[in-house]
Amino acid sequence: MTNQYQFELSDVEINKGRIVILGGGFAGLTAATLIAHAGMSVTLVERSTEAGGRARTSILDGFYLNQGPHTIYTAGPGAKILKELGISYTGKKVTTGGYYALKKGKKYPMPGSLRQFLTTKLLKGLGSKIEAIRFFASLNKINPEYIQDINLEDWINKNIHNADVKDLVKMLSRITTYANDIETQSAGATITQLQIAFAGGVIYLDGGWQTLVNGLTAAAQDAGVKILTGKRVIRIENVDSNISQPWLVRLSDGNTISSQALIMAVGPKDAYDLLKQSSLVSSSFLSQIVEGANPIRAATLDIALTTLPMPNVFGAYGVDNPLYLSTHSAFARLAPNGGALIHVMKYLGSSIQPDPKADREELEKLMDLVQPGWRKVVVKERFLPNMIVSNALVSASQGGIYGRPDVKVPGTKNLYIVGDWVGPEGLLADASLSSAKRAAEKILKIRNEKEKLAAHGIPQSY
Ligand SMILES: Cc1cc2nc3c(=O)[nH]c(=O)nc-3n(C[C@H](O)[C@H](O)[C@H](O)COP(=O)(O)OP(=O)(O)OC[C@H]3O[C@@H](n4cnc5c(N)ncnc54)[C@H](O)[C@@H]3O)c2cc1C
Repeated sequence: MTNQYQFELSDVEINKGRIVILGGGFAGLTAATLIAHAGMSVTLVERSTEAGGRARTSILDGFYLNQGPHTIYTAGPGAKILKELGISYTGKKVTTGGYYALKKGKKYPMPGSLRQFLTTKLLKGLGSKIEAIRFFASLNKINPEYIQDINLEDWINKNIHNADVKDLVKMLSRITTYANDIETQSAGATITQLQIAFAGGVIYLDGGWQTLVNGLTAAAQDAGVKILTGKRVIRIENVDSNISQPWLVRLSDGNTISSQALIMAVGPKDAYDLLKQSSLVSSSFLSQIVEGANPIRAATLDIALTTLPMPNVFGAYGVDNPLYLSTHSAFARLAPNGGALIHVMKYLGSSIQPDPKADREELEKLMDLVQPGWRKVVVKERFLPNMIVSNALVSASQGGIYGRPDVKVPGTKNLYIVGDWVGPEGLLADASLSSAKRAAEKILKIRNEKEKLAAHGIPQSY
């Protein structure tokens, strides 16, 4: 079956495709658009029948279900890149009203203002309230550069004294990074993410993240990108680095495409499987990919309801348990009139492995606590037991954000990787977009330099 995005291979100028991109998620679509905007010919190959990867949204009975809770960090690097590309979206900023913190089985209203911090029972005693207020007031002054290689647990223990404040900061770190590994995760990367979250807040999107996928796909197509869907790349070969199209991409249907440069916008495991066939890629780089591939995972339960049983309650965050519940439809158009769309999630981690049956029961129990009576008004439940939220946790032992591999694959000519596990900027989708931009800029810089030399009569081969 073809869809509006799908091209047949015959539509592509085989052997003239200058840049080939493997993978049509956020990262692949962004890199493709940026390069095509600059006038280069781009072909993008996606194994699924539709582009979008983990950012896709399913529409069921008028409800928009992202693959688990998805939110845009408006002060993050990704939002800037979407703006540069002219991708528009609407939605509302999430506030703390109607949200609860869950601790020792009790619900506490989430403090959001100075007055609420001073009166909340979540923080016991005046000392803890003052320490919390001081911490958040000075969050922006912390320099994350110096604490990239310190783990979050050590950093919290050294810099925060009160146990209640420690718990609150751990909870906010989990919500903003989705990571649940404080002994491993980089304090620097986490603090940057908290700073971004506090600077601009987060928004839920009308129509879900599919709005962004559609916007990026349309931008790519307008720029002339050929998008091939339903075709898996099974092998990449470096035919001859002295010719103008040195790369040969073999597809699952037996066809091949040759290209000047390749961008692999796939996860580390898929990248490893393709790269290990090439003698050009060093074993140290391959082991960096494998060792760095400690994914952040979550069990998510997406729930559509005809009505919200507790209309003024929007969500709850676990303080002493790794749980999350949020009514995304309270802030964005994601449900038909009167209906509600709720994302419930358990953050997994190295010490919390998925246990689908028990995890689902735990998430449903959280719904019982926050939205009693929901089972009578449920339209649809979708349980995703072991989602990869981000392909690689940013760990302190690898040097924090600078320990991630850079976009250029060392030792190769014109071979790049992009995604939420690559490059020195951003977490989650911010990393996908930033690394895509970084790879596009490097490719365009080389193109421009070669064009300059060619204009001076110096013959160029890629
Ligand atoms: C539960 C959950 C919650 C999240 N919440 C947030 C959030 O709030 N904020 C945020 O910023 N991010 C969030 N994320 C992360 C965000 O969704 C991802 O970081 C982003 O979508 C990744 O985009 P990508 O292009 O790097 O990778 P992907 O979306 O994984 O795209 C890779 C693509 O490559 C394709 N592919 C792989 N191998 C091949 C091959 N051999 N040939 C052809 N195609 C191939 C795949 O089919 C896929 O489409 C969340 C993710 C999850 C799961």
